[in-house]
Amino acid sequence: MELKKLTDRIYYLPHEPEADRPMLAYVKGDRLSLAIDAGYSSLHVKDFYEAIEAADFRKPDFTAITHWHYDHTFGMHAIKGVSIAHKKTNEFLRSQQEKAEDPSYIEILKNEDEHFRKEYCGQKELNIVLSDFEFSDEITLNLGNVTARIFHTVSPHSEDTTCIYIPEEKLLFLGDSTSEDFFNGGYMDKEKMASLIRTIDSTDCEYCVLSHCEPLKKEYLLEYLKNMTSYTYVTLRERPELKEKAAAWFHSKWNVPEAAYLACMDMYLAHKTEYGWYLCLDQEEIAGGLGVIENDFHDRKDLTPNICAVYTEEKYRCKGIAGRLLELAVDDLRIKGITPVYLITDHQGFYERYGWEFLCMVQGDDEPDMTRMYIHK
Ligand SMILES: [Zn+2]
Repeated sequence: MELKKLTDRIYYLPHEPEADRPMLAYVKGDRLSLAIDAGYSSLHVKDFYEAIEAADFRKPDFTAITHWHYDHTFGMHAIKGVSIAHKKTNEFLRSQQEKAEDPSYIEILKNEDEHFRKEYCGQKELNIVLSDFEFSDEITLNLGNVTARIFHTVSPHSEDTTCIYIPEEKLLFLGDSTSEDFFNGGYMDKEKMASLIRTIDSTDCEYCVLSHCEPLKKEYLLEYLKNMTSYTYVTLRERPELKEKAAAWFHSKWNVPEAAYLACMDMYLAHKTEYGWYLCLDQEEIAGGLGVIENDFHDRKDLTPNICAVYTEEKYRCKGIAGRLLELAVDDLRIKGITPVYLITDHQGFYERYGWEFLCMVQGDDEPDMTRMYIHK
C-alpha cells in the first residue's frame, strides 16, 4: 500500500480494516521526520517503511506513540530511530511485558481478538518494548520548519492518551482518543469526553486525524462527538412507558405487526423472559433500537436467542449507535447467563467490528436466498 498525502509535509499509511491496523503517519520536516504510532507488529512496520521508501523519504527519526494499545505499540521493537511515549504508556507496556513472559499470552490474545489473530497469524512470539524517551506532560520537536507538539490529554479511551499537534499544518492527531474504553467493557466516560472535546475545540486545527478512519474536518468531528455524548441508551425496563412508541417505531422500520412487538415487550416487562428491548434516545426521540427474540424467522431453531430489528434512523447513522446498542444487549444477556447470542444479516464487515463472527448460512423463512448467521460468544 502507498503513502497517502495529507498536506505537503504529512503523509500516512491508511488504516486497514482487515486486521484493524491503525493508520501510521509521517511528518516530514526539513531536517528530521516523525512517525506517529509504531503499528501492530514488525510486519506492519515493514509495510510502513516500504511505503516510506517508495515515496523516497527517509526512515523516521522519531516515532511518537498515541497510547499503549497493541495495534499502536507492538511494532515498536522493529522501528528505526527514537521512540517517544508518555510515562503511563510505558507503565501499561511494562505490565504487558510481564504478561508476555507467559509464552501462551500471544495465544490468549489471538483467542480474544480476531484482528489480533489475523495480524499475528503464524507467529508465536511477542516482542514488547518500552519507548526510548518518556515524557510526562508535553514535549515539542522541531523537525525543521515544522514542529510537533506531543502532549498528554484526558480522553475516554485510555489513561495515557497522547495527541500530536502540527501547528504549521493545522493538523491534530488524536489516535483512538474519541472512542470508548475497550479495556473497561466499552465504557464511555462522558466527562472525559467533554474534556477531550474542549481540548479539540481550543486547538487551532483544520483537520483531525483518528487512527481507524479517514482524516476529518474539525467541525465535523466536533459535531459528531457532541452528538455522541447527548444520547442516552436504555432498556425498555428502564423506560416502560416507551413501550407503545417503541413498538410503533419498530413496526414502521421492519413491517412486522406492531402487536408482535408488543407481545414480546410485554413478556419482557413482566419478567417472563430476559430477552429484552434496547433503545438509543436523542432527548425523547428514538434514534436507534434493537430487540432480542427466540428466533428471527429462520430454520436454525437451535441457534438462540437472536438479536433482531437492529435499526438506526438515517440521520443518526455512522455515529456508532448500533454498535453501542449491540454491546449493551450482549452485556446485559451475559450478566443473566445468556451466551452466546446470534443474529442474521446480509451485511458484511459491520458486525465484525463489535466482536461478532460469521458462523454459517441459514435459510430465512419465506426467503429465496440463504442469509448470514453471526455469533457473539
Ligand atoms: Zn486504542
